[in-house]
Amino acid sequence: MNLEITQAIKALLETPQKIVIVPHKNPDGDAIGSTLGLWHYLIKKGHEAVIVSPNDFPKFLKWMPGSEKIVNFEKEASAAKDLISKASVIFTLDFNHLGRIGQLQPLLEEATATFVMIDHHQEPSDYAQIMYSDVRMSSTCEMVYNFVEALGDTDLIDPEIGICLYTGIMTDTGSFKFSSTTSRTHKVVAQLIDKGAKNTEAHNKVYDTNTPSRLHLLGCALKNMVILEEYHTTYITLSQEELDQCEYKKGDTEGFVNYGLTLEGIKFAVIFIENKEEGIIKISFRSEGTFSVNEFARNHFNGGGHTNASGGRSDVSMEETTNFFKSLLPKYKEALEA
Ligand code: 5GP
Ligand code: MN
Repeated sequence: MNLEITQAIKALLETPQKIVIVPHKNPDGDAIGSTLGLWHYLIKKGHEAVIVSPNDFPKFLKWMPGSEKIVNFEKEASAAKDLISKASVIFTLDFNHLGRIGQLQPLLEEATATFVMIDHHQEPSDYAQIMYSDVRMSSTCEMVYNFVEALGDTDLIDPEIGICLYTGIMTDTGSFKFSSTTSRTHKVVAQLIDKGAKNTEAHNKVYDTNTPSRLHLLGCALKNMVILEEYHTTYITLSQEELDQCEYKKGDTEGFVNYGLTLEGIKFAVIFIENKEEGIIKISFRSEGTFSVNEFARNHFNGGGHTNASGGRSDVSMEETTNFFKSLLPKYKEALEA
């Protein structure tokens, strides 16, 4: 975090503020970990702070300290509205345009608070007065660590802050495997462990809490996998019916898309998941190497994200969506061979 941002933050937080912290819709480990890590820190600094999430988040994140205090806008709309309208500062974490927060968007657009963005996605929009945006970062959690460090407060990092930030770094780096993982990431994680973060516990609680029905759903997803060798591409589909058969619960499909990339020679892996309630197909894209799934999602599926991990959506049927997807591939044949 550079000096200019550090000074602006210091000035903003000099006196106690009423703070609302917002993660993106369908928050993942990094969104929940970073908002909780920042929340614990701001409370320790004497601010009034609360996390307002656009919607619920998966059970495998609900053990994180403070997670029970997160206000879910879908369940507590009027409380959330009140908090947002009265906030003096709003932190937005792990996203960079207001289209990523669903029904919360109009409320944030009307809010009079000072906005602070902490985020590592590409092409930020400019709604925030203070922007700490850095696409080289492994995770928003690593950035929250930098934020606390820049304010000279690493002494305040306790086991609770530590485990929240550790968990988000762990999930956003695929357990320290993705190319965004740097030596600095490992140094930050080492610091967090030294401050009391129970690292093995985070792995167990996030990854070793499967239900039989989730494993059945994984089996179904892998059976449905289509391999397009010519394009070094694989894709998976999951229909609403298949999800229902396996008693789908939020978070159950997390990580499924990555299985495609474990095939030798595959550079591009996609999962299409039907959501009948919202009338959309939610899509996750992953790549290995230089093929930018951020651009692919942005250009064709109303989405975005990072070079190697992005998401998007489609408003037509599963069959039309996968046909459209396949029709795009010839144009990218060369890029997928790189
Ligand atoms: P996931 O596939 O795990 O949901 O998301 C992968 C990455 O893409 C995340 O960094 C996430 O923030 C981003 N992403 C997922 N869905 C969307 C979307 O609909 N729009 C944009 N702009 N980014 C998305
Ligand atoms: Mn993230």
